[in-house]
Amino acid sequence: MSHSSNPFLNLNYEPAIESLADYHDVVTAAEYPMHRLRWRNDDILPTLGLDSSQVSDDDFIEAFGHFRAVRPFLALRYHGYQFGEYNPQLGDGRGFVYGQVRGVDGEFYDFGTKGSGRTPYSRTADGRLTLKGGVREIIASEALYRMGVKTSRCLSLVETGEELWRGDEPSPTRSAVMVRFSRSHIRFGTFERLRWIGRADLTRKLLDHVLQIYYSHIWGKENQDDIFYLELVKRVATLCAQWMAVGFCHAVLNTDNMSITGESFDYGPFAFIPTYDPRFTAAYFDHAGRYSYANQPAACYWNLEKLQDPLSMVMDKDNMQSSLLKFKDFYRDAYCEIMLKRLGFSSLSEPETEELIGATLELLSAAQVIGYNQFFVKLRQSFEPNWREDANKIFSSHDWELNDEQIILLDKWRVVYHQLLIRLPIAELENIAQQLQQANPTIIFLRPKIEELWERITTDDDWQPLYDAIAQLKT
Ligand code: AMP
Ligand code: MG
Repeated sequence: MSHSSNPFLNLNYEPAIESLADYHDVVTAAEYPMHRLRWRNDDILPTLGLDSSQVSDDDFIEAFGHFRAVRPFLALRYHGYQFGEYNPQLGDGRGFVYGQVRGVDGEFYDFGTKGSGRTPYSRTADGRLTLKGGVREIIASEALYRMGVKTSRCLSLVETGEELWRGDEPSPTRSAVMVRFSRSHIRFGTFERLRWIGRADLTRKLLDHVLQIYYSHIWGKENQDDIFYLELVKRVATLCAQWMAVGFCHAVLNTDNMSITGESFDYGPFAFIPTYDPRFTAAYFDHAGRYSYANQPAACYWNLEKLQDPLSMVMDKDNMQSSLLKFKDFYRDAYCEIMLKRLGFSSLSEPETEELIGATLELLSAAQVIGYNQFFVKLRQSFEPNWREDANKIFSSHDWELNDEQIILLDKWRVVYHQLLIRLPIAELENIAQQLQQANPTIIFLRPKIEELWERITTDDDWQPLYDAIAQLKT
């Protein structure tokens, strides 16, 4: 037990994955020439039973910059399919699990590092994270979190004063180390490695661990394994639907980036789509568009199907395959639910749902002058209960420059929306405004916006615009 007054060092860390022994290597953290706290996520502290006034910046730096240890640091072992090719040379190459704790919400969490130094899995790379990479991961996770996506979040980002060389950033570029707060770093690829080394026993052991901790409501049931896989299919389909509805392109949906808890994590070259263009591809190196915006459901399905290979060492493959066939329904249900909320409704009949979402996507796909997320922000900002009186009042003051075809589609959208408003009891119109506000934050982190924020950091070391932009998510 530590006698430090640092609350992070006194959390009740549990040796969860550590006690299993077969899925990690113990590693050490890098030492850095500088430690400057650039981001502390005070929002997360209550989940840890902490209050922000109890935790100083120095506490963050001591725990998550100097990495004062409470338990051994665990670089996790995993493999994965990267862009369709199996890669047995993966594993935590620049990170480790710092500790695992149960939150006051009852969920179990990892503190996982990124940029904390070389490990047996670094290959020729430096084990470091660029400051810009850290900033981008903060932005992705905070924006997704705000929009209701089940995602990891960044607990801290400490700038570390090294010069890094990267092909995709003007170099030398600044360095940082991040701590990610997530539901688990056990990936599909953690299981894939066990198949590669032919260890059914370790697969069983890991699956039991996953069930006990992350699917505890299923653990011990007669068909626990089958129920688990079905629930994983549902969680992943739901997550994917969330990405699609909020216009997020993850960019690297390799099986080593798929969490066994169905949580979204690991944000590299991600982007929010500027407009509704299904072919939009976020990673410059994804030449074939394998992980384009529209391909994300198929990629998630493929990953779930591949996961059957290792799992079939310990459970029935046919049952998994029939569960996987439900992906489409899970996906559609979740997608419709979120899209309706973004459009202001909590529930509509099935034909109404289809008509409204159909009209919206038809408009946004044809009218590329309307930004995807901008459309929902505009809806939030323009909506008035008096739209119910007359379809022409809907978006009457928009400034989109539309051609004739697009005007027809907007008019069609107006008619659909107006019909729904008419059918709604007057008392419920209030809920629409509230729902729109809840579902559609006014700040959109398109790439130019992120670059603008980064520009302020690189040129003037001015972090305030970033903090303000993230604070704007709360409105
Ligand atoms: P990612 O594309 O970030 O999911 O990483 C894929 C693999 O490359 C993982 O095994 C990472 O740990 C490893 N990796 C990525 N960047 C670095 C780096 N700078 N140093 C060491 N390993 C890295
Ligand atoms: Mg990764």
